[in-house]
Amino acid sequence: MFSDSPERQAVRLSALALRHFRNLRSQELELPAEGVALIGDNAQGKSNFLEAIYYLETLRSFRGVRDEQMVAFDADVFRVVGTTESGDERRRVEVAAAFQKKGKRKKVSIDGTEPERMADALGHLSAVIFSPADVELVSGGPSERRRFLDIVLSLNEPGYLGALQDYRKILLRRNAALKGGEAPSVVSAWNHGLIRSGAEIMQTRRAWVEHRHAAFADYYHRVSGRDGARMTYRPSVPLVDASSVQDVREAFAEALGRSAEQERRMGVTVVGPHRDDVRLRLEDEREGLDLRDYGSGGQRRTAALALRLVEAATIRDRRTHRPLILLDDVFAELDGGRSERILELIETEETGQVVLTAPKEADVRVRRDALPRWRIRGGEIST
Ligand code: ATP
Ligand code: MG
Repeated sequence: MFSDSPERQAVRLSALALRHFRNLRSQELELPAEGVALIGDNAQGKSNFLEAIYYLETLRSFRGVRDEQMVAFDADVFRVVGTTESGDERRRVEVAAAFQKKGKRKKVSIDGTEPERMADALGHLSAVIFSPADVELVSGGPSERRRFLDIVLSLNEPGYLGALQDYRKILLRRNAALKGGEAPSVVSAWNHGLIRSGAEIMQTRRAWVEHRHAAFADYYHRVSGRDGARMTYRPSVPLVDASSVQDVREAFAEALGRSAEQERRMGVTVVGPHRDDVRLRLEDEREGLDLRDYGSGGQRRTAALALRLVEAATIRDRRTHRPLILLDDVFAELDGGRSERILELIETEETGQVVLTAPKEADVRVRRDALPRWRIRGGEIST
């Protein structure tokens, strides 16, 4: 699907320095250009290693935990510094992130300078992480899929993160007014801002799903080798007749009007992008079986992988370079055929460096012998 596009540059992580990040020994590492396979027994720090790398992309844990949790038990501050290189002239960028438990302070710098806005601090690695927990994207509730969308779009669509931050702030205040039983005029004073930011969020989410649903179906089919699946946007505000952002605003305003009675009763805003979902369905003769309710374990994992592959494709297109692929022991739970086809996809799609973890050498099949092996024991990596 992407092979006819001109060869894209990869951003590669060339060096990584760790200090007091979970159980990882404080150390400085140089990463091979093609990537690395990190092998180690359970609970030695493999996922922690990928968590540290991915922290430089999103400034949060891919496991969805708070920053405090990643500071080594006996320390107060963790620090992760990565050096990326891109292009033929090997342009270097240093991304540094630190978090202090006491005072809960996060500090980020790009080439030594603190970015003014959060959005400028994100996405410097162009990384995608695949993990066994991704199955929750499919099996879990709508909030899992909203979180996925929010991360992908914040990293790849200009303005999205700002709209999301505005929306959340306004929603909190509006809900506080509803909960406090304030007069309707006090509640509706927040509507203008809610509608503005909310419409931008919905419009961006819809456009992304519409643009990417074919790729999702294609990846799903290629990995499963059999059945198909589809992805559709399920906004809580009906948008069928709304195409421009102005239309979306009007639809949102109308939906708020219709739900005014209900939200007074419940003390909470009941329509808006905070109630959206992305439906993932099996494509079969009984059209519309939700993967969440009817998918087998393998089908759900396949759909989750397809979502991550779509995320990688988004990075490739929006940031015009090949993503760094982080694979956390992802083949453990898939049948041989599916794992083989995923490997093939990851190798044939334009991906950059690959950093993968596995408990056993035998699980390392990506780029087969080309990928150097590192070992990890008790948080200490030997290269
Ligand atoms: P598996 O193969 O089971 O997935 P893993 O190698 O991926 O194992 P990790 O999740 O990376 O294991 O590391 C788990 C270890 O890290 C546990 O022993 C845990 O106690 C330790 N650990 C987690 N958080 C911290 C922390 N903040 N400080 C010190 N150690 C921590
Ligand atoms: Mg792990």
